Amino acid sequence: MNKDYDVIIVGGGPAALAAAVYTCRALLKTVIFEKKYLGGQLVGTELIENYPGFPEVISGVDLTQRMEAQAKRFGAEIRYEEVLKLGIENGLKIVTTDANTYASHAVILAAGADPKKLDVPGEKEFYGKGVSYCATCDGAFFRDKDVVVIGGGDSAITEGIFLTKYAKTVQIIHRRNEFRATKIYLDEAFSNPKIKVTLDTVIESIHGTEKVEGVVTQNVLTKEKKDIPCQGVFIFVGSVPNTGFLGNLLCVDTGCHIETNIHMETAIEGLYAVGDIRKNSYRQIATAVGEGVTAAIASEHKLAELKALSKVKK
Ligand code: NAP
Repeated sequence: MNKDYDVIIVGGGPAALAAAVYTCRALLKTVIFEKKYLGGQLVGTELIENYPGFPEVISGVDLTQRMEAQAKRFGAEIRYEEVLKLGIENGLKIVTTDANTYASHAVILAAGADPKKLDVPGEKEFYGKGVSYCATCDGAFFRDKDVVVIGGGDSAITEGIFLTKYAKTVQIIHRRNEFRATKIYLDEAFSNPKIKVTLDTVIESIHGTEKVEGVVTQNVLTKEKKDIPCQGVFIFVGSVPNTGFLGNLLCVDTGCHIETNIHMETAIEGLYAVGDIRKNSYRQIATAVGEGVTAAIASEHKLAELKALSKVKK
């Protein structure tokens, strides 16, 4: 078992990278475990104009690269390993990855969330063949095409605006007649001639032969059904936290958000949760970063406390 690290961070999004800057600067040996790529959902975000310090728009990819460089500069180690399990033995957190087993007294859970699925016929079958959950990743494939965007939050609206760079038309379909999205984004979307908005409407199915050719919608008030021809279906209906590896340690079932106190500490001493995995998180990049920093400082204090009690040797 590898006991080299003072702090183990699970996940590699903005909360994790911010936490690592602080733990490393506090001279705590820190590892980040990331199963896919750094940045998490940030990588799929094209327009970021509300992250302090960047008065011009910055892309998620650029911001991730800056955060990675900063964390590495202070000595953060990044290991591309998937965390499969977390256990507790005498206060020590045992982290099992697909490559090794690690133990540490402080673990920060920053595993983020994955896009929520619509669960309609055709969604799974046409994933990668017109169905997408990431406009930044796939938008360029829809040059001069007609696309629909599902959802009414900031993701749907900002990604819908981004898609107008490529697509001929972008039809935003939302199940209610009010949006959750921020007014400034809505104003920009409504004034874009490529964007059309359809309210009180749900998607019943996605169809096509080899690739997406259209969606069947239903108006929830009139029950009227329509077949809307399109080549792309971009789904932004929220996210599901990545808590499966915790088993029933903190959650009764997978998909739950983890409760913490104001120090980001969970019900287990020395175990912190930050960002989209955390209950009541505001799910903003800036708040995720703040939560990561809070957990980093709290873990530094916790390790000092345990060291004073001689529970931690080094
Ligand atoms: P969200 O705010 O939870 O919005 C999800 C949207 O999907 C809602 O409009 C919801 O409709 C709809 N929806 C959920 N389940 C659905 C279903 N089964 N069928 C049809 N529609 C469904 O998620 P988000 O837009 O991903 O945003 C998440 C967080 O990230 C928010 O706090 C947001 O502010 C933040 N964010 C910020 C920015 C930015 O500022 N640049 C960009 C992206 C995200 P209802 O409204 O009817 O529930």
